[in-house]
Amino acid sequence: RGLDELLATLIRDVPDFPQPGVVFKDITPLLADHEGFSAVIEALAAPGRDASGAAAVDKVVGMEARGFILAAPVALALGAGFVPVRKSGKLPGPTHAVSYALEYGEATLEVHQDAFEEGDRVLLVDDVLATGGTAQATQKVVEACGAEVIGLSVLMELGFLNGRDVLTGLPLHALTTL
Ligand code: 5GP
Repeated sequence: RGLDELLATLIRDVPDFPQPGVVFKDITPLLADHEGFSAVIEALAAPGRDASGAAAVDKVVGMEARGFILAAPVALALGAGFVPVRKSGKLPGPTHAVSYALEYGEATLEVHQDAFEEGDRVLLVDDVLATGGTAQATQKVVEACGAEVIGLSVLMELGFLNGRDVLTGLPLHALTTL
């Protein structure tokens, strides 16, 4: 099975989750399928490789919580370190924090201040790009640590939400776009 077929058959629509009117993209069938999971990990890692296929990033960042599931194996595939970006109050050490607007209210993302070396090249990984708020906040908080964000890999871009437009200067690698 090719990557497009795997994504089309193993990501399912759940209507009215988490609230009425939203069609949630559920990736759990993909995670449960070894062929699908391994194919997407290799594809998500691609922007972290140079033309010869060698790893070209120092760290891979995953955004809580589904981003963790994808970013950790991408980091191992690239021979890079893994860094979690978490919701407020979860990380034990000193953090940099960025708050951003949600549809209703506000959220805060945090990363450990010492998670990166100065100038580290960093690939961000998440499951879905919707409005782009999460990715934009993650880029800011990683850059506050003195690291360089070289791109964002996602399984799926919800094109009708135009998240791509808020990611100024951040190359987006989406395995599929709706
Ligand atoms: P954004 O900040 O781009 O609006 O939302 C992206 C974040 O919300 C991602 O971290 C993603 O995990 C989550 N998200 C939003 N919509 C969906 C969806 O339909 N399916 C999944 N799996 N995650 C979603």
